[in-house]
Parts: sequence; C-alpha cells; structure tokens
Amino acid sequence: MRKGLIFIISGPAGSGKGTVVNIIRSKTNNVGVSVSATTRSPRPGEVDGVSYHFISREKFESLLNSGEIIEHTEYCSNLYGTMRSEVERITCEGLDVILEIEVDGAMQVKNLIGDKVVTVMLAAPGAEELERRLRGRGTETEESVRKRLTRAKAELSYAGKYDYFVTNETGRAEECADLVMKIMEAEHNRSSRHADFISEYIDGLETIIQ
Ligand code: 5GP
Repeated sequence: MRKGLIFIISGPAGSGKGTVVNIIRSKTNNVGVSVSATTRSPRPGEVDGVSYHFISREKFESLLNSGEIIEHTEYCSNLYGTMRSEVERITCEGLDVILEIEVDGAMQVKNLIGDKVVTVMLAAPGAEELERRLRGRGTETEESVRKRLTRAKAELSYAGKYDYFVTNETGRAEECADLVMKIMEAEHNRSSRHADFISEYIDGLETIIQ
C-alpha cells in the first residue's frame, strides 16, 4: 500500500485555494482534507465538523495543552489549528492529507514532520489581479481590502520557503487543480521515497546474477 503524504496548500486571500482544493477533492479518492479547529464564528453556509470544528477559546487552549493540536496560529484575532486526530484518521486509511493552512502553520508542520510534508503556495497571477479579486467580492470595506493586501504581501514573502509555487490564473481553477494533482503524483515518485524498494530490487538482481 502506498504511504500517504501530507500536502500543505497555502495561499493569500484571493488565491482561490478553497476552490482548487474542492476540485481536487472531487477528482480523486486518494486524498482526505483535514478539518481544522477554529475559534472564529461560522460564516453563513459553513457547517460544524465539515468546514471547521468551531470551538471556544477555552476548548482550543485545552486541546493545545493536551497535544491534540499539532500546529496553530492566530489570524485576524482568531485561533486556527490542525488536529492530530484528523491527520491520523486520514493517514490510517493510506490517503494523502491536504492541510489548507497559512504560512506560519505550514512551517510548523514542515519542521515537526519533515520529509513526508510537501508545501505548495497558490497565488493570484499578480498584484493588480489580486486587488481586483478582493475588490470584486464587493463585500469588503476599504480597510479590510488593505488589511488583506498587507497580509497577502507578508504571506508571499514566505513563497521561497515552499517546495512549489503555482499561480491560479483567472477562470482556470480546473487547470490549477490538475497541476497541483500532478505535483502530488510526482512527489510519490521521488526516488528517496522508494529507497527500500530500490535496494531490495538490487539485492534481487544480485541473487539472480550469482
Ligand atoms: P478563514 O477564516 O478565511 O477560513 O481562514 C483564514 C486563514 O486561516 C486561511 O489562510 C486558512 O488557510 C488558515 N487556516 C485555516 N485552518 C488553519 C489551521 O488549522 N492552521 C493554520 N495555521 N491556518 C489555518
């Protein structure tokens, strides 16, 4: 059975990462998406246990103290974290895990788990397009747009620490999802992940040759 990897997908507001992750989810049965815990309130249409585990700050802190939350961050005054039980539930089934988390948490997971973790940053194709997407929502105040652009700048400055950087061209989320899925497939074929098989292979040949 192939061993599951952990794919972190980050991207500033307006990168379209939620859409891309949903497309990937609909196209393959090989991945499970980890449901994070958060202290923020649900937005209209969000379902507890599906979008997030919506919990109080006290509960979050107690999960953190007991080691059940393996990485976390504070984002716009709310806590967000990945739950150990979610990652274990998915990897136990031999599936790849997708964590849709921001840069700070991504670095924590990479440091904690190492080689099994592959990081992908998604971004809008450029600064003007990102601004256009954020304003286009029509729901944000000027202050909120500026806040999100400032945050986007900070997040993009981490791009060099990611394994992959993928732009999500406008109207082409399907293509972007296909590219991310190719990255996922290629990562499973990294030779270092097959070291045991390769050495058994060579031993097998050695036995035949003798
Ligand atoms: P939102 O409130 O828009 O759903 O999420 C805000 C930000 O928090 C997004 O960048 C999202 O990827 C990130 N996020 C969601 N869950 C987690 C998590 O478990 N850990 C971390 N570090 N970030 C998360």
